[in-house]
Amino acid sequence: DSSSGSSGFFSKRTFPGRVPAGIGRKSLRIVVTGGAGFVGSHLVDKLISRGDEVIVIDNFFTGRKENLVHLFGNPRFELIRHDVVEPILLEVDQIYHLACPASPVHYKYNPTNVMGTLNMLGLAKRVGARFLLTSTSEVYGDPLEHPQKETYWGNVNPIGERSCYDEGKRTAETLTMDYHRGADVEVRVARIFNTYGPRMCLDDGRVVSNFVAQVIRKQPMTVYGDGKQTRSFQYVSDLVDGLVALMEGEHVGPFNLGNPGEFTMLELAEVVKETIDSSATIEFKPNTADDPHKRKPDISKAKELLNWEPRISLREGLPLMVNDFRNRILNGDEGKGL
Ligand code: NAD
Ligand code: UDP
Ligand code: UDP
Repeated sequence: DSSSGSSGFFSKRTFPGRVPAGIGRKSLRIVVTGGAGFVGSHLVDKLISRGDEVIVIDNFFTGRKENLVHLFGNPRFELIRHDVVEPILLEVDQIYHLACPASPVHYKYNPTNVMGTLNMLGLAKRVGARFLLTSTSEVYGDPLEHPQKETYWGNVNPIGERSCYDEGKRTAETLTMDYHRGADVEVRVARIFNTYGPRMCLDDGRVVSNFVAQVIRKQPMTVYGDGKQTRSFQYVSDLVDGLVALMEGEHVGPFNLGNPGEFTMLELAEVVKETIDSSATIEFKPNTADDPHKRKPDISKAKELLNWEPRISLREGLPLMVNDFRNRILNGDEGKGL
């Protein structure tokens, strides 16, 4: 199909047989690694709904087919069971690289951040695709600067229990910038702060999913340490809007993508209680090693250069995930892959 303008098998940005996504814009072919996961599946929904073709690569390590089942049969959607630690050949315009064992209980299985990122960068280089890395606020470690700006280099323990995640993502950022400088790959780097919403893994130990699931199950909310540590919680649709704005924009980043509303864990427990069940209780548990004391994004850069900021507050967002959690708990689905 020469009318699509492609010139050769690995040509940049256009491929044979492409359908228009809408007036004035060709549809893109987009890979989302980790697309069967929490954030990935919401991103896929947005890309499909705006008319693009999406290929999800996922090994179902924490992701679930249920998160994408509503797209099965859609001719613009494709799901490949594949571990990104292994090379793969595809012809695509954009790569959203989200694949990662993304929660503390899964951190230890982690060549993904290095080998998986390298393979996706190799793919981006070969086909001339734009590559977006979903890095994390964890690159700031236990931060000595508050709130954190993108210019802060972080305070990370290189040999601690969380370091394969923190340092893995720091290495992924390094690889991304090296491919950008050394091989001219178009890259984008997002540093994502704590995000919550429907389809979050039920039992991966993150605080919002733990508290919501515990209250629905009539168990006490487990507050680690004294509960005075802080986090800033972003609703998933705000994040997805930010990722797309970053991919489509002209700036490499890194960009903090998070909601600056900061809460202690005790305050979070209070909001969950108000939202779901006023009789909910808490119990204190010992904290994990190297737990960051506070975290809050400075998002001035994303506001100015991406024209993006979150719209949904914690009190507005939490109720939006409760039905999904309730249904999954009632159905006995504990968040495992198929
Ligand atoms: P998630 O666990 O729901 O999704 C990760 C997905 O990656 C899963 O579907 C999993 O099966 C897949 N995966 C893991 N290893 C893989 C491999 N080797 N090959 C192929 N697929 C693999 O987590 P999420 O919250 O959706 O996170 C998505 C991305 O956003 C991750 O890169 C994570 O580090 C980043 N992030 C998330 C948050 C957050 O609060 N949710 C915060 C900071 C950064
Ligand atoms: N790679 C891949 N798909 C591609 C191109 C490359 O998975 O379409 C992998 C490749 O196997 C290698 C990595 O990406 O492990 C880095 O590729 P690059 O070409 O940058 O490095 P090289 O192969 O030259 O070491
Ligand atoms: N946390 C908690 N109870 C839980 C799970 C986590 O009090 O059941 C605390 C944890 O100690 C940390 C904060 O909540 O201070 C956020 O933890 P999470 O694992 O969700 O995110 P991260 O530490 O990666 O920001």
